[in-house]
Amino acid sequence: MTAVEWTPEQRALVARVAGDGPPVGTKRCGGCGQVKPATEFSRNRTRSDGLQHACIPCQNARTRERSAAATIARTRLVQIHKAEYDALYAEELAKLEAP
Ligand SMILES: [Zn+2]
Repeated sequence: MTAVEWTPEQRALVARVAGDGPPVGTKRCGGCGQVKPATEFSRNRTRSDGLQHACIPCQNARTRERSAAATIARTRLVQIHKAEYDALYAEELAKLEAP
């Protein structure tokens, strides 16, 4: 006999049937860990329960964080290129000023 590998969703379903999971129509958020009504989660057809892993406020917070990280990365990229540009410009200027 081989061990049965259950997905987290199947385990949650079994826990629900056993009476120690979150009640039907609710879901534990993978972000904040709170049990919330299904309406607090966006839909995700690719998941077996049809809902996102995290609740809407957690998803929004994550989107904001990622957006802020992208802005910082873009700013740093511009700074790196600016430093390279300044160095090349100084090099070319020095060539012009050389006797
Ligand atoms: Zn959450």
